[in-house]
Amino acid sequence: MINLVGKTKSELEEFFISINEPKFRAKQLFEWFYDKRESDFSQMLNFSKSLREKLQNESKAHSLSFSDSQFSIQTSTKKYLLQTEDNRQIEAVIIPEEKRTTLCISTQVGCPLDCKFCATGLMGFKRNLTTAEIVDQYLLTQKDYGKDYGKDVTNIVYMGMGEPLLNYENTLKSLKIFTSEETRGLSRNRITVSTSGIPHRIIDLANTGVKVKLALSLHSAFEEVRSKLMPINNKYPISELLPALQFYAKETKTRITFEYTMFAGINDRDEDIRELGKLMNKLPSKINLIPFNSISHMAPDGISASLKSTTREKILEFADKLREKNLTVLLRNTQGDDIAAACGQLAIKKS
Ligand code: SAH
Ligand code: SF4
Repeated sequence: MINLVGKTKSELEEFFISINEPKFRAKQLFEWFYDKRESDFSQMLNFSKSLREKLQNESKAHSLSFSDSQFSIQTSTKKYLLQTEDNRQIEAVIIPEEKRTTLCISTQVGCPLDCKFCATGLMGFKRNLTTAEIVDQYLLTQKDYGKDYGKDVTNIVYMGMGEPLLNYENTLKSLKIFTSEETRGLSRNRITVSTSGIPHRIIDLANTGVKVKLALSLHSAFEEVRSKLMPINNKYPISELLPALQFYAKETKTRITFEYTMFAGINDRDEDIRELGKLMNKLPSKINLIPFNSISHMAPDGISASLKSTTREKILEFADKLREKNLTVLLRNTQGDDIAAACGQLAIKKS
């Protein structure tokens, strides 16, 4: 069975030509999936009866199914456990706020990068997700959430499980689908790709013209400290990331967001403020301060076991000191911590 969700418009055009249908069926199918959000082929009434039957018999729309979900009464955050056809489990989270509803999606089952503070990193790497599996997280969860809580997903962040730029081709295709003219309610400035920093891929992404927002998981402006927290920094240090980020900001005319998870005594010192100031003055950027969310449910050892979050009070003070340097600072509320659905808490123990 051929899976039609996750195909780009030009791939769908090839598909329809191969079954002797006109090319414009691709646009029509795109509208069903991403505008009308209808994935039942029998409802696609602008297709002939024989085409509808052919699609029903020989193709499919979904590649994931619901396995479980958890809802936080405190914040209305909902975490979905979704199952792949080869019985892997991934997570996607919907986080409603006053003015937006954000979907956080995964790009890999697990992650190979082993960041010391991240539950997904601790579970290891299983495989890349297909484009269909990335896109289906959106189609399935937005429908479910909309039905129950009457809210449309307005923003997508690639901040679930995995490193999007290590699954570059499939991530890029999903971005092309999400930013296509047919996809209702989303646009490039409502989509953020978060990366631990793969310089050549940041440059590739800048050259595609997709122009989504980019967030770089920084966590320290000092090379040695960042390397301890994120081993990938030994391969791709800040000094190599900086030119790639400057290029991305210039090509896309966007500001880079630095994500900065705060660890007591490790990256919340006065010298960290000075070093961040120096770094951030080198490119259009803002910084998002994130409290460290406990990963004790993963029973970590080594440095992972010793990490503690900076207190709320200290984070506010740190933010003020950065603002005194005229830097743009955002503070992230931890949403969904009570159901282990906050940033970096996504992991499946038995997969
Ligand atoms: N692999 C990508 C995207 C997924 S991680 C990346 O690393 O950017 C999404 C964000 O969650 C990253 O900024 C990551 O550093 C952060 N994060 C991971 N574990 C966390 C934790 N336990 N508490 C707070 N933030 C965490
Ligand atoms: Fe992978 Fe991102 Fe977690 Fe690091 S923080 S292990 S890159 S998912």
